[in-house]
Amino acid sequence: MNEKNKYNKADVLIVGAGPAGLACAIHLKKKNPRLDICLIEKAADLGNHNLSGAVLEPEPLHTLLDEACPQWKNTDQAKEILAQKVQKDNIMFCLGKKISFNISFVIKLAKILHLGFGQMLHKDDYIVSVSELTKWLGSIARNLDIELLTGFAAEDVFLDNQNGSVVSVKLVDQGLDKKGEKQPNYIPGEKIHADFIVLAEGCDGLVTESFIEKAKLQRKSPQLYSVGVKELIKVSQSQYEKFTSSRVVHAMGYPLWRPLIGPAMFGGGIIYPARKNHIAVGIIVGADWIYKDFNPQDALTLFKNHSFVGKFIRNGSVVEAGAKMIPEAGLYAVPNDPKTGTIGKANCIITGDSAGFVNMLKIKGLHNAIYSGIYAADAIAENINSPQFTALRYTELIKKSKLYEEMLSAANFRQTVAKFGPLIGLPLSAIADLLPRFKVEQDTKSMTAAEYKLKPNQQFDKDTFAAMADTQHREEQPSHLKILDTEICKQKCTPIYDSPCITFCPAEVYEIIRNEVKPANPSNCLHCKTCQIKCPLDNIRWTAPEGAGGPRYKRM
Ligand code: SF4
Ligand code: SF4
Repeated sequence: MNEKNKYNKADVLIVGAGPAGLACAIHLKKKNPRLDICLIEKAADLGNHNLSGAVLEPEPLHTLLDEACPQWKNTDQAKEILAQKVQKDNIMFCLGKKISFNISFVIKLAKILHLGFGQMLHKDDYIVSVSELTKWLGSIARNLDIELLTGFAAEDVFLDNQNGSVVSVKLVDQGLDKKGEKQPNYIPGEKIHADFIVLAEGCDGLVTESFIEKAKLQRKSPQLYSVGVKELIKVSQSQYEKFTSSRVVHAMGYPLWRPLIGPAMFGGGIIYPARKNHIAVGIIVGADWIYKDFNPQDALTLFKNHSFVGKFIRNGSVVEAGAKMIPEAGLYAVPNDPKTGTIGKANCIITGDSAGFVNMLKIKGLHNAIYSGIYAADAIAENINSPQFTALRYTELIKKSKLYEEMLSAANFRQTVAKFGPLIGLPLSAIADLLPRFKVEQDTKSMTAAEYKLKPNQQFDKDTFAAMADTQHREEQPSHLKILDTEICKQKCTPIYDSPCITFCPAEVYEIIRNEVKPANPSNCLHCKTCQIKCPLDNIRWTAPEGAGGPRYKRM
């Protein structure tokens, strides 16, 4: 890219510098060093908006880096990031506050019997911080001369009316005041033009969803989401040694699900060790919960207090916290062109979590994000002179891949549990691929007036949680959270559901001010997008704030 048109034209524009976008950029640059590849990322710095479990299957990383950066395994960064290999893999079932069973043998048996659940084993994978992994991949990309622009938030795509190709992506305007008036520092959002566009924004991406609508892509099943909340806790050396640095724990049951007596939610707890006496504890819960007063952070509190978990973290101090959503409806929710089946259209392709390449039987999507970035790069490299065939080639490559094979094996899993609930749905999902595809509703429609029976007495300290995510936005800008119709809140939501956005938002963004629900503290927002998915009347829209706003995760 020459200096003159540095920020408004690239050969390839990648929206989102997470693992999928960076994998695409690195692989493509290696294949065709002459291409101008530009990545734009809304976070202030790489990795700031990347939060996940995360257990990483190493194969895609080898596929990506053995070619692009042959010495990678010998670098200090690689050794540090991949320092923790999973040696012990516990799947627990928690029954009430004190009792838990290790049910790993059931999963091992499922593996022997080739049942879907057998995929849930993680031995020999790596326990990584996605934030650190992203920073590292970013440094490799920069060394390859890839243009990586952080603090650039995108809000929309523009299509060519004639052939349906995407011609440009528009960035967010900067320098508006709270009322939307232009200030002296106003900079209109540029349109960046490119021959190829790769959407790698992560879950429920703003640009991706706009593209899906404009290009008339469809999903066979609505996307279903989970909400994950996580804390990184500094513990004593003896607690850390007791847990070990090579064990991962996934827990089902309490406090999300108690068979027969309720509650009955999909999801569970995770405990992963980080380096140097730190342990990450989190709760991931299906966003189709029905309880109007449920807040995933309350479940996190209960999980942390469970006797199995508590012994590893008691008296520890939380050093970082965060929240995010996970797309988990699987293959049937991958958006595609109803006529051609392409995952994207013409010169624009959708990768990683934006496409929904998460395999909930493995509780993982990171490996698929990297793989999809690699296939996106291959498809572009093969179509340099015919960009309009890129989505077609990308889809062919995906369909021939291991990624597709495993997505297919898990295709009906989440829908089966959503349809029948955990008690019947989980065992039934063992034969989900023999069952018809079940029709499920969007998460936004699931809420009822029922109450969560296990609600803790104490209110969760959301202010501290948001502070631990180190979230920041320029205060004097329009709120990026829009309530479409406050009368709906007053007339329909508050009387039945008690304004649940106030309860479930993990950062206390929503408040009642003079009898009206408002996104009163948008600068606290963690960009988790739970509110957009979970408002029972679909009355909230998350729009992109100015670039560089949002959480600043470092080790999540
Ligand atoms: Fe209810 Fe949504 Fe209004 Fe919040 S914004 S009060 S959840 S309708
Ligand atoms: Fe998440 Fe919405 Fe709250 Fe922001 S306002 S933290 S996106 S729930």
